[in-house]
Amino acid sequence: MLVLSGGTGTPKLLDGLRNILPEEEINVVVNTAEDMWVSGNLVTPDIDTVLYMFAGKLDTTKWWGIKNDTFMTYEALGSLGHDEIMRLGDQDRATNIIRSDLLRAGRSLTEATQELARVLGIRAKVLPMSDDVVRTMLTTPAGKIHFQEFWVREHGKPDVLEVVQEGIEKASIAPAVLQALENEECVLIGPSNPITSIGPILALQGMKELLKKKTVIAVSPIIGKEPVSGPAGKLMAARGLEVSSAGVVDCYKDILDIMILDERDEYGISVLKNTKCKILIADTIMKDVGKSTALARIVMDAFEC
Ligand code: GDP
Repeated sequence: MLVLSGGTGTPKLLDGLRNILPEEEINVVVNTAEDMWVSGNLVTPDIDTVLYMFAGKLDTTKWWGIKNDTFMTYEALGSLGHDEIMRLGDQDRATNIIRSDLLRAGRSLTEATQELARVLGIRAKVLPMSDDVVRTMLTTPAGKIHFQEFWVREHGKPDVLEVVQEGIEKASIAPAVLQALENEECVLIGPSNPITSIGPILALQGMKELLKKKTVIAVSPIIGKEPVSGPAGKLMAARGLEVSSAGVVDCYKDILDIMILDERDEYGISVLKNTKCKILIADTIMKDVGKSTALARIVMDAFEC
């Protein structure tokens, strides 16, 4: 199984999937377009959420960072007048330091991630989508800002006029992702932000062509006309897409075989029942690992795996 992931909705589903599939059979291709250098170290929020989830260290109250982490370095930096954009925990920062040291020593992001997965005892393959730099930049009325500046510093408040993935034209699919794709027939697009999490993965040159040959199932992150959480609605609207599961299907057109909609998504169900992609209806709100596992079971049945 190969899963395309961002850092909140899909990791919840992965938490269920690993109760059904042996962990070593799970390949996760992770968005890197929200990565950002902070105080000299590369923070890769989506990769780290997936790593910490598999390692059993994730703070699942926020779906980022390490549970029971401390913030002494962040606070010490602040007291010296060095305010960081993200409230990084001390243990979380240790991950960032190791990754960045490996990068500075000439290793690729894939290799650095493999090394972190190894020391964390993770058997799933956690694969950055690319070893090249791609950054999601948003045009707001006040100018162009990094996604993290919009979401973390500005709390998602500015209007968004345009979403651009800088560097995407020159970025290649990571070789380890290509290799994983060669061996997998079933591709799951988890309930992640279709613009800033899944969008960059699909925008990599050649990715859509490769996925057209696979069985692709997606879980919608939208119910009715609202995302379950996060800024997906605002960003879909900035791309001229309807904020609905139909808008998500638009994002994945040409590659999608089955879309799983939430049972509460009356609007999505009524609009999509006559489209050419098959629709399944389920409870997709993953409040706990029991719900995540039940949804993962539905996905596996749909793949007939
Ligand atoms: P990010 O990297 O933190 O933006 O996280 P993702 O892109 O992976 O996930 C964000 C998306 O997941 C949002 O659009 C939410 O609507 C969706 N989401 C979060 N939790 C759930 C859930 O339990 N069920 C469903 N269906 N969607 C969810």
